[in-house]
Amino acid sequence: AKKSGPGTICFFEASDDTSARERRALQHDLEHAIEADELFLVYQPFLDIRQGRITGFEALLRWQHPVRGLIPPSVFIPIAEESGLIHQLGEWVVRRACAMLARWPDGIRIAVNFSAVQFQNVGILQTIVEALAEAKVAPDRLEIEITESMLISKYGAAPAILNSLLELGLTVALDDFGTGFSSLTYLRKLPFSRIKIDQSFIRDMLTQPDCAAIVKSVIGLAQELKIGVVAEGVETVDQLEYLRQTSCDEVQGYLIGRPMSASEIASMLDTKPRQ
Ligand code: C2E
Ligand code: CA
Ligand code: CA
Ligand code: CA
Repeated sequence: AKKSGPGTICFFEASDDTSARERRALQHDLEHAIEADELFLVYQPFLDIRQGRITGFEALLRWQHPVRGLIPPSVFIPIAEESGLIHQLGEWVVRRACAMLARWPDGIRIAVNFSAVQFQNVGILQTIVEALAEAKVAPDRLEIEITESMLISKYGAAPAILNSLLELGLTVALDDFGTGFSSLTYLRKLPFSRIKIDQSFIRDMLTQPDCAAIVKSVIGLAQELKIGVVAEGVETVDQLEYLRQTSCDEVQGYLIGRPMSASEIASMLDTKPRQ
């Protein structure tokens, strides 16, 4: 196969038919990806609608494979979870995110994604504390995104670790809201800072009245609970306008900005706030 450069379009599709042999090969390569410097983060902005300013970025992991090209997280994260490599990857992500926070203005936060299995390792707390201290970054600038599916009973330790994170001053967002079970139960039990409405609802809200009703209700729910609400996957001006009218706090999506490299962010933070 040909060597591919950083801009290469991925041809490797996420699917269940990624054969066992393929997965083993990828797992083997992934074991060396960190030291080989093949992993990198891209950052997708959050826009505060009312203030018209960028309030932070979600860090999304990428793997530039030397032979296969760019491999999406939907392919390598499950492999990392199964093999336990996710712990190393997660620590790397936290350290890198903290290092970026040190270079960006104080009013900017970074959200990192966590898998359920990462919450089975109490060591992650230590890593986070150390990374924040090393970068001299305030804990409230680091946000952890978790999905409700990871709070199911199988991972009983999760709420304890979550509470420790909150005590440390981090913020926690409930990701992909509306796609799992028992969302409302967890909102009662855990002091989330923010909920992120899944992009599937945003995609259909202007064409399907029931979808619009759900989006409006979730925004109202967040307001009642006095927590933030983010709409994911905003791609059109009409969607943004609708979310502005329904008093959504923040939006994220290709309309605002695609996931970008660290150097692209540096110039973005210099630009004037958008309306
Ligand atoms: P997610 O956390 O729900 O991230 C949102 C995904 O939607 C990202 O895909 C992002 O690129 C994409 N997206 C953003 N805006 C738009 C839009 O306007 N339209 C559409 N159609 N898509 C949009 P990505 O980067 O491929 O990540 C996929 C998933 O991989 C993430 O879903 C997250 O669950 C997981 N992931 C990514 N990075 C990490 C990581 O560092 N650790 C862990 N554990 N999981 C990660
Ligand atoms: Ca996320
Ligand atoms: Ca999401
Ligand atoms: Ca998702």
